[in-house]
Amino acid sequence: TARLPAAISYLLLSPFSPLFHLSLGGGGKGKSWKWKDMLRFPHISQCMELAKTLERDYYSLCVKQPIGRQLFRLFCQSKPELRHCISLLDKMGEYEVKSDKEKRMVTPSFSTSRACTSTCIWTFVYDHKCLTPVTVYFSPPRQPVTKYIFRQYRMLGKGGFGEVWAFQARASGKMYACKKLEKTHVKKGRGEAMALNEKQILETLNSRFVVSLAYAYETKHSLCLVLTIMNGGDLRFHIYNMGTSGLEQDRVQFYAAEVCCGLHHLHQMNIVYRDLKPENILLDDNGHIRISDLGLAVTLSEGNLVRGRVGTLGYMAPEVIGHKYYGMSPDWWGLGCLVYEMTAGRSPFKGKGERLIGKEMERRIQEEEEEYGNIFNNETKDFCRLLLNKDPRHRLGCQGSGVYGVKSHPFFRTINFRRLEAGVIEPPFKPDPRAVYCQDVQDIDEFSTVKGVILEKTDKDFYVKFNTGSVAIPWQTEMIEMGCFKELNVFGPQGSRPPDLDW
Ligand code: ADP
Ligand code: MG
Ligand code: MG
Repeated sequence: TARLPAAISYLLLSPFSPLFHLSLGGGGKGKSWKWKDMLRFPHISQCMELAKTLERDYYSLCVKQPIGRQLFRLFCQSKPELRHCISLLDKMGEYEVKSDKEKRMVTPSFSTSRACTSTCIWTFVYDHKCLTPVTVYFSPPRQPVTKYIFRQYRMLGKGGFGEVWAFQARASGKMYACKKLEKTHVKKGRGEAMALNEKQILETLNSRFVVSLAYAYETKHSLCLVLTIMNGGDLRFHIYNMGTSGLEQDRVQFYAAEVCCGLHHLHQMNIVYRDLKPENILLDDNGHIRISDLGLAVTLSEGNLVRGRVGTLGYMAPEVIGHKYYGMSPDWWGLGCLVYEMTAGRSPFKGKGERLIGKEMERRIQEEEEEYGNIFNNETKDFCRLLLNKDPRHRLGCQGSGVYGVKSHPFFRTINFRRLEAGVIEPPFKPDPRAVYCQDVQDIDEFSTVKGVILEKTDKDFYVKFNTGSVAIPWQTEMIEMGCFKELNVFGPQGSRPPDLDW
C-alpha cells in the first residue's frame, strides 16, 4: 500500500462525515424513505404510445441499455426453450475476457455457435413481439430534475465557472459529482456555447474511461452537470503531491492504457478531446481513471478537420500552436506528454519549477527535441518519441492503423486491452478510502454571483437546451447498481408474468 504524505488530510469515517456516505458503494444504502414514490413507474397502459416510438433493435434494446439487458435475460430465463441460450451468452461473455492463453484451451466449436445463438434469440423474441412490454420500462420517469432530487455534501473542486460538489441521488442513494456552472459567470465569460457543447458531447458518450453524464438541469443560479464521481484525485496530484515525483512503471502503463481506451471511444465518435493533461485525468475509488472536463472537445463532421488554438499551453501540439488544420492528432501528442510527465515527474518542455513565458514554451514545443533521462526505459522512450513527433502525419496514432498502432506498441506489451476494456483488470494502485486526494478545498474561494450581469429572455433559450434531465443509460445503471430495479421490476423473480400482460 502507498504511503500518504502530510499534504493529504484525513477524515474519520463517522456517519456524520460526508465521506462516510461517499464510501457506501452499492447495495442501496442512503435511499430516501420515500424512494419508491420518487421512482414510481407509469402504469404499462400509459406506455403503449411510447413503446411504438422506440427503436426495436437487438443491440440497442438487449445489449446497450442496462435495464433492457436485464429484462431480456429475465424473459429468456422464463422460457425453458430459451434458458440454454442465456447460459451460452454468459459463457460467451466469459470467453471474451479470457486471456489469450486460456482462450487457446477452449474448444473451437464454441466460437461458431455464438453467432447462431444471438440470431436465434433475436428472431424468436422479435417474431413473438415480446419486446413491447420490455421496452416500456426503459425510460426514466418523466419527472423534472431539480435540486430536490439530490443531497449535497462536500466540495470536490473548483472550475472556471463554478464549484464541483459531491451529490447523492435521494431516491437511489448513488453518489455523483455535480459540476455547477454559475449562470452569471457563464454569461460574463461568454461560456454558453462551451457549456452546451460539453453537455451535448457528454450525453452521447458511454465509456468506462470517460466520466458519464447522468443528469443535466438548472436551478435559479446555476446550470448543473451531474457526473460520475471520481474520489481518488487527479493524476497531477498523484504525480507531484504523493512524496515522490513521477509514478511507477506499472501505473504509467495502466493509466496510459485506460486513457488510450478513452481516446479510442471519443475518436470513434469523431470527437477530438484537445485537453489531455494530468489534471483532467481523475481516479475513482478503485484506482481506475476516467477522462474528464470535455469543455474543449469538438465533434468533427465526417472526414473534416478543424482549426483552433485551444488547450492548455504546455500540452498543445505543434499543429495547434501553428494554427494548422487537424483531426485527432493533438490527442496523441497529448498522450505522449502525459506518459512523459508520469514517468519523469515533469512535463517534456519545461524543467522542474522552471517559469516560462508563453512564447518560449511555444518555441520549444515547435522546435526543440525533448530529452530523455535514464529514468526512461527503451520502450517508454520510443513510445513517447513516436507520439511527440512534431509532424502529425508521422505521429503514432495518426497513421493508417490509428489507435491499433498505439495499442500494439511494445510499451503496452503487458496490457491485455480486451480485459482492460471489460473492466476486469485490477488497478495497480488503490486510493486510500480515508484520504482526500486534493489540496485543501477550504482554501478555495466560494463562488458568488457576478454583480451587474443581468439574465435575460435570450439566456432562457439556452438554459432550456441545457436542462434535459436524466440521461437514459447512466440512469438505468443507477437503478440496477443501487438495487432499485430489482425491487421495482414488476416482472417478478423468475420472470413471472404480470396478470395484465400478453407475453
Ligand atoms: P473546468 O472545466 O471549469 O476546468 P472541471 O471539469 O475541470 O472544470 O472541474 C473542476 C474541478 O472539479 C476539477 O479539477 C476536479 O478537482 C473537480 N472535479 C471535476 N469533475 C469531477 C468528478 N467527476 N469527480 C470528482 N471531482 C471532480
Ligand atoms: Mg478543468
Ligand atoms: Mg473545462
